[in-house]
Amino acid sequence: MSDVRVGHGYDVHRLVEGRKLILGGVDIPWEKGLLGHSDADVLVHAVMDALLGAAGLGDIGQHFPDTDPAYAGADSLGLLEHVTALLRERGYVVGNVDATILAQRPKLAPHISKMRENLARAMGVDPDRVNVKATTEEGLSFTGSGEGMAAHAVALIERI
Ligand code: MG
Repeated sequence: MSDVRVGHGYDVHRLVEGRKLILGGVDIPWEKGLLGHSDADVLVHAVMDALLGAAGLGDIGQHFPDTDPAYAGADSLGLLEHVTALLRERGYVVGNVDATILAQRPKLAPHISKMRENLARAMGVDPDRVNVKATTEEGLSFTGSGEGMAAHAVALIERI
């Protein structure tokens, strides 16, 4: 039987004024942005945790500590390339990734295809292996109030 593994990732960042909103590597014009040590790309962070989880390699906090100045303002897509390389060193390729962003506003639909392209390029796969969805939480909870955004991701990887 082939060595197929699944992983799950979840991340949250607070929305604040004076920060860029970067999701899936797309700079989205908005009145607020996500707060974090890196570029705070909550979608890419969830995807990285899903990949690391599938490979049994822990989480992004272990690989890219937020106490390390090297990662201040880091481009999360670059970190995703690094995670993909870690998997490749162990013989894994990415099968597919499916992710959901939880955000009340702004409307993310116009940006989804670019996010897919960016994630796919960083992982070295075709965009049809990467799915990105966005949903509101109907005004409920911290995403509904606009205090923050969250993202979930699952990833399937295979050792070839
Ligand atoms: Mg994060």
